[in-house]
Formats: sequence, C-alpha cells, structure tokens
Amino acid sequence: MVGRNLKDLPFMLYADSKGRVYEHPFYRMIGFLGESPEIVKEDDLIPMPEYSKLFYLPNCAPMGLDPVTGEIKSIRKIEVGGEVTKCYGVAAFLEPGFVRTHLPAVDYSEKGYCLPMWAYTAVGFKDDKYWVAGFRIEYNKAWDPRYFDDKELIPAIQKYQSRHGEGPLLKHLVGCATKNHCFAAKNLFLERWEAPMPVSQACNAECLGCLSFQNEGFCEPSHERISFRPSKKEIVSIAVNHLEKAPAAIISFGQGCEGDPLTEAGLIEESIEEIRKHTPRGTINLNTNGSQPEKVRAIAESGLDSIRISLNSARAGFYRAYYRPRGYDLEDVIESISLSRKLGLYTMLNYLVFPGITDQKAEIKALTDLVKKTGVNFIHLKNLNIDPELYLEKMPRVDSPAVGLKNMLALLKEELPSVEFGYFNKTVR
Ligand code: SF4
Repeated sequence: MVGRNLKDLPFMLYADSKGRVYEHPFYRMIGFLGESPEIVKEDDLIPMPEYSKLFYLPNCAPMGLDPVTGEIKSIRKIEVGGEVTKCYGVAAFLEPGFVRTHLPAVDYSEKGYCLPMWAYTAVGFKDDKYWVAGFRIEYNKAWDPRYFDDKELIPAIQKYQSRHGEGPLLKHLVGCATKNHCFAAKNLFLERWEAPMPVSQACNAECLGCLSFQNEGFCEPSHERISFRPSKKEIVSIAVNHLEKAPAAIISFGQGCEGDPLTEAGLIEESIEEIRKHTPRGTINLNTNGSQPEKVRAIAESGLDSIRISLNSARAGFYRAYYRPRGYDLEDVIESISLSRKLGLYTMLNYLVFPGITDQKAEIKALTDLVKKTGVNFIHLKNLNIDPELYLEKMPRVDSPAVGLKNMLALLKEELPSVEFGYFNKTVR
C-alpha cells in the first residue's frame, strides 16, 4: 500500500486451544471485505471500545500479512520456546453504536460447524492496545454499557415485582434481564428509557441469523423465544407504568426474544388502544419484518408512534436468501415502509449490514432508490450477527464491487440528505 509501512500495522492475534489470546510477533493484522482479504486502512482502525468482547474461532486458522514480502498466509501453528502451539483465529464483537468495516481474516477450510450469532470483526494489537476495524455511528447514553450495573438490577426487580406481582410476561422479562442480559429488559425494571414488550411466538420468515429460533442441530439461538401469549391486561399494565414513569420512555413491540409482532397484530392493536386511554406520554414503537402492510396499517391506526422495519438488503435476491420469507416478499416490506410514512409514523429501517455485501455499488443504488421512493426517516446501521462463512455462502454472487462501509455511508448521506443515520431507537413523543 502506497505511503504506508506494512510494519506499522497492528499485529495479528491468535488464540491457543484454551482460548488464550496472544499477538503474533511477526505477522500483521488484515481483514476480510466479503471473501477478499484486505489491509485495513488506517482510518478504518480504532482502539477497541472498552465494552467490546473478544472471541476465538475454533478450527479456523488466522490469516496474517508478512510485512516484509506483503504476502498473506494462513498461520496454523507457532513455535515459542521450543513448544509448538496450534493457532486459532480471534475476532471482536463491538460495543453498541459501532459499525464494523471488516470481517476477521481466517481460513474456514477446516471449520465444519456454525459459529453462534455474533457480529465477528477484524481485530489486531499494537502499542498495548487492541485495534478493531470499525467506526462509531452514534453515541447514546441510554445504550452505554457503563450505565447498566447489575448491582442495581436485582433490587430493582424485587421492588418492581412487589408492586406489580409476578405475571407470566413479567416473569419472562425477568429472565430477559438476568439471563439474556437484554439492556431493554433491564430498563423496564430500572424504569427508564426503552423497554421491551415481547408478545409473539411465531414468525413468517426464517432468517438465517434469527436470534430466537434456529433449526435443531444448526446453531444455538442466543435468545429464548417467548412461549406463551401474554394477556392484554398484563401488557397494558406494564406498558402504562413504563410510559408514565420512565424518562425518555419507549415501549417496543418486536424484540430479540420473540417472533414477528405482526403475527399478533390484533393483540397489539387492542393493547395500544387501551394504553393510550391511560397515558398520552412516551413513544410506542414496533420493530418488525414489515411483511404484512395491512397489519401495519391496523397497528398504526391504533396509536403507534414509530416503526422500525428490518431488512438485510434492498435487492430481492439477497433479501430472500437471508429472510427466507413465507407468503410474502420484499415488495410487501417496501409497501409497509411507504404506508408507515403515509400514516405519519416515524419510520426507521433496521438495516443489517455486512462488509463486502451491503457496500456493493448495486446495493447502495437499490437502497437509495428504496429510500427515495418510501421517504424513510432514519436508517439504523446494524452489524449483522451471523457466521460470516454461512452468510457469504448463502448470498447470491453478483458482479458489483464493494466500496467499504464508510464510503457507503458517505455516499448515502450525499444522496439522502434528509435521512438520519444511527444505531438506536429514539423517542418521538
Ligand atoms: S423476522 Fe425476526 S423473528 Fe422472524 S425469523 Fe427473522 S429475525 Fe427471527
């Protein structure tokens, strides 16, 4: 790379079979953009945010750059003090609010299993610091891990339960807060910011990276899906308490621990109508796949304030390959987006981004067209949590160069000046 001494790059990380992480004394870090190994540009590297996590990737040899020859190699073992150690790849998972620009560079040829659903990111080590490939898209105190101290949580849960009893929905949410460590569920008990309202057991999609359902033997889902239909009475009581008391209050239907809320549109509609009889305060939001426009209409008309519709791509082939929709298609999702705007909802896209796919020129064009046609207000750039090898294997092959996620964002901002970009839901009333 012109003007950059390869020796200045961070060192490649590797792990031993016990998951202990080391920096390699010679090879330097690289990243993958899709399937292509790349030197990570200086302005795509940031010190690893404090609340990120490190993972090691069993049976995946790390790939590193020889800073003398510029050659890229899979590093299967290392000899230290006469002892030979097998090397495994290392990846980072970034703190909320950061977008990854590169995937970890590893050799998947001996992997033979599916990685759990996390957003694996390229990481290296230099000057006593870990360096990751990514950038901050938004800071929001309400999602800063520093404000989620579990020492306050248990007494808050006990206090909440003593006032609100122990209904099945509340019990489920206690599990979300204490076992899944869902920030939104913690907020419910701490009576602040955005809280979840999971209601749906079913879904009409079968996303490759669904966090709450995976076919047996494939990969463990990270969230336990709600297994009952909550009563309207319990939904209303929990929602009203939160909307009335919490600062910057949001109640969101459609969380990581459920199916798609449109499958329970009737229950949501009736609940919102009832909630609004008790309080005009706070934002009622719906996170959904947006598959059924008429159900979106019914919920919007019952008093919804904002909607966040998820999609991995504005191209039908890519959308179908990830969502595996049953009985609907991307056109229906686009219709739901348009309709939401027409009905006055603050309309957001939960855009699931993946380096090397989302930043393809053809995708940028398709997304720009979709947004211009529908009038979206806000685009969340969310790192897609999925095994990178699986996602790349399932996506269609197209001849469209990837420009990098930072460049993609700059192009989108230029083309769509009235759209906001970020990472978190916001209060709109
Ligand atoms: S739309 Fe949501 S609930 Fe349905 S399969 Fe996809 S991720 Fe899972």
